[in-house]
Amino acid sequence: MEIPHPVSEFFDRYAGPTPHLLIALDKVQEKYDSLVQAMPQGKHHYAIKANPDPDILRVLHRAGCFFECASINEIDQCLTVGAAADTLLYGNPLKKASEISEAFKRGVRQFVFDAELELEKLIEHAPGAKVICRITTDGHGAVSPLSIKFGCPEDKAFTWLRKAHQQGLVPYGISFHTGSQQLDIQAWKAPIFSAARVFSRLKSEGFDSLEVLNIGGGFPVDYRSTVPKISDFFKVITENLREAFAGNIPVIYTESGRYMAGDAGYILSEVVLVSPCHKRPEYRWVYLDIGRYGGLVESNIDYPMICGKSGPAGPVILAGQTCDSNDVIYTEAFDYHLPLSLAPGDRIILAHTGVYTTTYSTTLNGFPTLTSECI
Ligand SMILES: *Cc1c(COP(=O)(O)O)cnc(C)c1O
Repeated sequence: MEIPHPVSEFFDRYAGPTPHLLIALDKVQEKYDSLVQAMPQGKHHYAIKANPDPDILRVLHRAGCFFECASINEIDQCLTVGAAADTLLYGNPLKKASEISEAFKRGVRQFVFDAELELEKLIEHAPGAKVICRITTDGHGAVSPLSIKFGCPEDKAFTWLRKAHQQGLVPYGISFHTGSQQLDIQAWKAPIFSAARVFSRLKSEGFDSLEVLNIGGGFPVDYRSTVPKISDFFKVITENLREAFAGNIPVIYTESGRYMAGDAGYILSEVVLVSPCHKRPEYRWVYLDIGRYGGLVESNIDYPMICGKSGPAGPVILAGQTCDSNDVIYTEAFDYHLPLSLAPGDRIILAHTGVYTTTYSTTLNGFPTLTSECI
């Protein structure tokens, strides 16, 4: 794996504390541009939970990207970089009544829900707002499925959007998420057809406010293996849309997090200890100054690793520095290999760690949270 020159140069000169995340903003811009190119007519939202760094938000806002938020804090972060409140999408189907009121007061007008009592809250606290109902997906093909906790059946979406209309809200559309790091380019097909059935039932009853199909995020980035190109995903998605909506395709929203900034980030980390594995002597434990509690929570994601040393390599088990036995990043099953000469004090770069790292970082055992900066 090649590290972009500006990133390696930065780390060569870097003498500050580790772990430290560096984000290459030109990559974020490039990823957004590629999404626009793959679907020019779409309205692309950045799911800011992936990495809410204000510099990332500014670059995307300037480029014309919209934002998907999950809390009042995230809404405020988007407003701070100049996003207009009525373009924000409150995409979290789990909101307290007080949070709905706060968002509404700030001017947010697009809300996602997937349960009847959530709709009741919106009726009461966001009168007249546009509501989007999230339908369920099976999560198949995704490295991190989101299917357990979210989404409702198709017939409920129909019933609740009709009710939304009767109660003074604007039934605005359907959303779904096929799961994060979705590797199957066909994964959007079933929910697109499901949404099309809800659209056509509601339209046949005369509801003409339905405008949006939010096809979520999930678009993958390269880790140790190469994933299909974004244009390949949208080629299939566009075919599915044409087939399902028969020429009457709604406005398409996307909500990418990982795709937008995942491969823009690199974490510099230091080796704390290398020690032979007593039970399996062919393996070594490599303890880094970042582990699951320092931000590498997504231990099903296999980040490429770059180490300055060369020479023969051997298999390793990777773990963090905390006193929690669960703080193992990669077991034998991941089959990582690092140089046999690796020693405490050496530096390791974890590539494509731009998302779902800083916000997951804790202070367990008093270790500082993951710091980051952008270039
Ligand atoms: C997390 C999340 C996203 C972003 O998913 P990615 O896989 O990072 O693209 C989009 N929409 C919602 C509602 C989410 O919760």
